[in-house]
Amino acid sequence: GRKLLMIPGPIEFEPDVLQAMGMATTSHVAPDFIEVFGKSLELMREVWKAPKGQPFIVSGTGTLAMDMAACNLIEKDDAVLVISTGYFGKRFKDIMERYGANTTILEAPLGEAVSLEAIEKELRTKPYKALTITHVDTSTGILVDPEPIAKLATKYNTLSILDGVCSVAGETILQEKWGLDVVLTGSQKAIGVPPGLALLMVSEKAMKVWNKRKTPVANYYSDWHNWLPIMRAYEERRPSYFGTPPVNLIVALETSLKIICKEGMSERVKRHQVLGNAFRAGITALNLEILPKTDQLAANTLTAAYYPKGIDGAAMLSKMAKNNVIVAGGLLPDLKATYFRVGHMGSVSANDLIAVLSALERALSELGHQMDVGKCLTAFQNKILSTK
Ligand code: PMP
Repeated sequence: GRKLLMIPGPIEFEPDVLQAMGMATTSHVAPDFIEVFGKSLELMREVWKAPKGQPFIVSGTGTLAMDMAACNLIEKDDAVLVISTGYFGKRFKDIMERYGANTTILEAPLGEAVSLEAIEKELRTKPYKALTITHVDTSTGILVDPEPIAKLATKYNTLSILDGVCSVAGETILQEKWGLDVVLTGSQKAIGVPPGLALLMVSEKAMKVWNKRKTPVANYYSDWHNWLPIMRAYEERRPSYFGTPPVNLIVALETSLKIICKEGMSERVKRHQVLGNAFRAGITALNLEILPKTDQLAANTLTAAYYPKGIDGAAMLSKMAKNNVIVAGGLLPDLKATYFRVGHMGSVSANDLIAVLSALERALSELGHQMDVGKCLTAFQNKILSTK
């Protein structure tokens, strides 16, 4: 039967997006494709809420987008503050150090975020070139509010870099209003395009800092000197070449960005909030504990929850898979076997989440977990009905 892919990326994609992936590939300098690429760059500014930002669309994954932000903005011995709420915060620290950054990491206790007080206290100790924020850490399901952190970064003349891989096009992001310098993502999450694109939006301020580098960018492929002329050319609808763009993926991106803009970003974020909230109510009604300590800290793009005591997690996941619902296991190295994750982003609907909850409660019930069958569905439906 048809499987429902409910992991935190890749997600279920719109049929029109998948159709774009299967079209006959054209030349990367064909007029039609130049138009598609140019339009995608323009639509990114709308999704990111960054009318003056410089967008980049490059073949690669979300990690490449992190790598590009690091190697273009950081020079050896620059101080970088990493604000971490899980696995992907630590990845940013590793990437920054690869380019010679002198990093300080503020790690939140499991299930929590780092306090603004702790961030400001650290920013006062020395001049930081940049700080990194993971908007939604996919390993923990923790949602960080980037706005006050971006404002602190501005106050201390520090560049703010947001890892939005699990948030762009799913959670509220007002890049320019909040003063975020880089907001980056990969295609396979809330942007709704199969894996393979690194997407970045860079502020005017960050482009100026980059322009004043004293040393060459230490990564040939990631160097914006190679990509900026290409992005400019496509926006001006001129042919250009540096590395062959993934033509089908970019047609799929334009298709998805049009779907996103048609729904409207505030409507789309609202849908994610309503569904995220209702899903958490369903999970709680199954007597499961959610990893983020409070509802405010819980992402609307995915939910991380602990397996109940005495339940074999691998058996639960495989029972669900047999019912054609695919969810993900844990990602934190030490806690992998103790929790699971469900993605609910992109074109996700209430019907999809009802399917997840019902497969989940059947699996748990068969494994001997105590609960009232149907209660999670009632809790979910009531939340949807009361928030519409
Ligand atoms: N940051 C976050 C928050 C992520 O969720 C991911 C992917 N799970 C990445 C970075 C890395 O993205 P990719 O796997 O596309 O390299």
